[in-house]
Amino acid sequence: MSVTLRFCGAARTVTGSCHLFETEQGRLLVDCGMFQGPKTLKELNYGKFPFRPDAIDAVLLTHAHIDHSGLIPKLTRGGFRGAIWATRGTIDLCSYLLPDAGSIQESEVVSLNRRNAARGRPLVTPIYTQRDAVAALDAFRPLDYETWVQVMPGVRARYWNAGHLLGSASIEVEFAGAGTDGKPLRVLASGDLGPDAKLLEPVAEGPTGLDYVICESTYGDEDRPPVTRESRRERLAAEVRAAHAAGGALLIPAFAVERTQELIVDLVDLMERGDIPAGPIFLDSPLAIRATEVFRQHTESLESDVNIDRLLASPHLRCTESVEESKSIAKLTGFHIIIAASGMCDAGRIRHHLKRWLWHAKATVLLVGYQAQGTLGRFLAEGAKAVRIQGEQIKVAARIRRLDEYSGHADGPELARWIASRRPILRGVFLVHGEEPALAGLSERIAERTVPAAKVFTPLLDDIYELTTEAPTPIDVTHRRRLEPAAVVNLDWHNEMSKLILDINDAVEAAADDRARGVVIRRLRRALEAKE
Ligand SMILES: [Zn+2]
Repeated sequence: MSVTLRFCGAARTVTGSCHLFETEQGRLLVDCGMFQGPKTLKELNYGKFPFRPDAIDAVLLTHAHIDHSGLIPKLTRGGFRGAIWATRGTIDLCSYLLPDAGSIQESEVVSLNRRNAARGRPLVTPIYTQRDAVAALDAFRPLDYETWVQVMPGVRARYWNAGHLLGSASIEVEFAGAGTDGKPLRVLASGDLGPDAKLLEPVAEGPTGLDYVICESTYGDEDRPPVTRESRRERLAAEVRAAHAAGGALLIPAFAVERTQELIVDLVDLMERGDIPAGPIFLDSPLAIRATEVFRQHTESLESDVNIDRLLASPHLRCTESVEESKSIAKLTGFHIIIAASGMCDAGRIRHHLKRWLWHAKATVLLVGYQAQGTLGRFLAEGAKAVRIQGEQIKVAARIRRLDEYSGHADGPELARWIASRRPILRGVFLVHGEEPALAGLSERIAERTVPAAKVFTPLLDDIYELTTEAPTPIDVTHRRRLEPAAVVNLDWHNEMSKLILDINDAVEAAADDRARGVVIRRLRRALEAKE
């Protein structure tokens, strides 16, 4: 009997979760996520899957976020006919998130093809359309937490609350007869794990006694000060008061699902108590508006001591669904709050608001979530003096602030504790879904203390391991890789390039006069022509 595991996503420095399990009886995916971040990675979304979609028997989905679910419509479009297992919360969220992702693909391709046509390049088709996404929803099958489901001959699965998002799960998979002495081989995939003190979710749960654990490591190198509901609200209140004092708009690029609802609940509550100045809160995202409805339908499954339903219906909150309503916000000048997607500023209405406000010293941008490499949010977080939005260079004068307390992810110590609570872990721990420092940070935290260092692995994209051996055995994949290992490590050359261009512009502009500008340009030219 053989069970192999291929990391088709969520590997070293690579986002987009997708684990392929293969046995003699069939093939199973845990997640089918979209690659996000640098261009090199995003281009993989247009390429072929490293497997035949019609050869996959089932998909087990950890949660609704696009970097875990986003390529499901592409899979269905490619001929996948099996079941997609997920919790009800995940299914409800996917029924909005996936069609929305489809329409984003369609509109991105329209603008990409306009550029391609102008440059005489071949036209591309969308990864999938809104229609494909709606069609994919038929394959979803609901299941309950902590209940076994037979997902393929000889394979059963059980979902555990991961405390990361409405419906989110870690997934335990058992391969009958493939473990020690004819026992099942037991594998646990963490999905994304939530922090201990999250407003709407419980602490992550999970089974013990496994052969393998696959664990995310997004914030593996961070050790946040302990967060309580009160300390988080105080930090938010302080940011809002400072933004009000600055006198302009407060822009919050937010993830449509959960982060947005948590922020609204706290903002409205703070306003009602008079702890922060009152002002309109615009929820400027049709997707976030619908996600908010999903939350109101699931309030009984959420952990909270506040009346979410009442707070989400507050008159302080104004939902701007249509484009006209959204545009009318741009006429406002004084203090107001705008929550708009996307959370990393790489798409969505937030870009229009950033274009309108970034160059204003009285505006504030509050980043409340993880900013992947290569995204506009990451540039802002790293203190870029100018950025490009829709082809236009914009100076950054606004106050750029960060608030990590609303993170949906566990930090390093919480991840390490979650892994430790799963022991005994007999054969290996795979750390995935993190940039190099995060992987190194988490690996250091658990090596020897939790599991022997020799049992900790950080697989590269498309690595394959045989799992039934005493320790995971790597299989030669030299000819099967979509990205060379070196390309993975140097993923951010696009970022370096855009930074360089901005710095050159800066240097030329900052020069004293035209003569000095000429000198700068000639020096750069000489550097460019110099042989190494
Ligand atoms: Zn997630």
